[in-house]
Amino acid sequence: MCSSDLAGQSVRDLRDTRGVAYAMGASETPPDDALLLPSFEQVRDDKWSFAEATKMIHNETNPYNARRLLQWHARQAIVANPPALPVSQADMDRIYGLPYTRRPHPIYSEPIPAYTMIKDSVTIMRGCFGGCTFCSITAHQGRIIQSRSKESVLSEVREMTRDKDFSGVISDIGGPTANMYQMQCLRPEVEAVCRRQSCVHPKICKLLGTDHGPLIQLMKEARETPGIKKVFVASGIRMDLARRSPEYMRELVRHHVGGRLKVAPEHTDPLVLDKMRKPSNDDFEKFTDIFNAESAKAGKKQYIVPYFIASHPGSDLNAMIDLAVFLKRNGYRPDQVQDFIPAPFDVATAMFYTGIDPFTKKPVHVAKALRDRKLQRALMQFFKPANYFEVREALRQAGRTDLIGNDCESLIPPTPPREALEARRKDANARFRGDYVHTIGDGKQKKRTRKESRHEPGNSYRPKPKPTSPSAQRRKKKPRGPSAGA
Ligand code: SF4
Repeated sequence: MCSSDLAGQSVRDLRDTRGVAYAMGASETPPDDALLLPSFEQVRDDKWSFAEATKMIHNETNPYNARRLLQWHARQAIVANPPALPVSQADMDRIYGLPYTRRPHPIYSEPIPAYTMIKDSVTIMRGCFGGCTFCSITAHQGRIIQSRSKESVLSEVREMTRDKDFSGVISDIGGPTANMYQMQCLRPEVEAVCRRQSCVHPKICKLLGTDHGPLIQLMKEARETPGIKKVFVASGIRMDLARRSPEYMRELVRHHVGGRLKVAPEHTDPLVLDKMRKPSNDDFEKFTDIFNAESAKAGKKQYIVPYFIASHPGSDLNAMIDLAVFLKRNGYRPDQVQDFIPAPFDVATAMFYTGIDPFTKKPVHVAKALRDRKLQRALMQFFKPANYFEVREALRQAGRTDLIGNDCESLIPPTPPREALEARRKDANARFRGDYVHTIGDGKQKKRTRKESRHEPGNSYRPKPKPTSPSAQRRKKKPRGPSAGA
């Protein structure tokens, strides 16, 4: 909503605004059209209710059919209005066409790493219909794609070329996902009543428009703009969609990859992928085959860099061992590992906390203990000597000692490499550092001479006398001998 529409209104007047949540007074009557969630006290005390509330909230994310939500907190009601309607293309163009400086706020004097990463990138759309359970984009940008027009994007690209500091390289042209530009449901009347959590999971919906044509044209015109040397794609590519369009794959591989393309299959285990609402590993493998074939045709040496998540709900040691075997067979050596981190509002976080899948109410394995998470993470980098002992422990725990050996299928050798022993020694030293160090006083005590302090009981090598127990003290006071008491 435009700020001029809100001018002069009180906070109470905003209660009919979409996307707003507000607390009602104890004497107010709550709206009777709202969907009643389990109360705060219920979700606090009962994990099943927490899972149920998560499901209900996520069922109300389609702005065309979402209902108002209501939750009681003791005697006070909290109301959450339906999500905002998608921003029209004209409004997207108007918003992105505002005279931004493309500079951080002058209050920052130090370099900002995130700014360096995004300063030469161009956002072409908002929203995502993927519905991945570990991501909350749907909650804050919506599940309907809102795209800028080609003219709006190209005008920004031309504007960038006029900046004297611009190198001519666009680091990313994308959004939450690289290849959902202008994609939408082909049947608006069905979309208006649809309650699916994802348009692409478990399968790509047959009503989803997956035409990559507008995106291909946009990428072509962006890279051909005078003053532009290169346009990279660094946003995450939805691989199941991309491989439907050979032309997109060709354009991507030939013009928009800088030697390494980062993709996020996230896992290989079908159960874990299902809990994530990600496409099957088959999609990743087929995408990789097309990528390699197109790179060879273009005469380019380019590589896929896959990203995976350890300890996602559903992921146990067996799933991670299978992932490690997949990495080994395919020659992948991830240099970065991602650990699942619970984030507000997503379904995976609800699974992590409750151990229940909110949509099926079935139990989900969750690795919460630090040691278990460490083992899962180590398996992703099984090739690192520093991880040797964790990987060995994981394989022993899972009964997969067949993967310890010297043959090409093994993950680790039977004897720890020298670097592994060295790393363990360093780790042990780091962990226990401090235990043998004398602490320094607060400086308020009187400084004593070395001699004084050495002879004081309890200091240095002189043991402190044991404290005397009360019964021993009584015995000590008691007079001894036959004359006692005479
Ligand atoms: S009908 Fe299919 S494409 Fe349309 S909104 Fe629903 S899941 Fe998405």
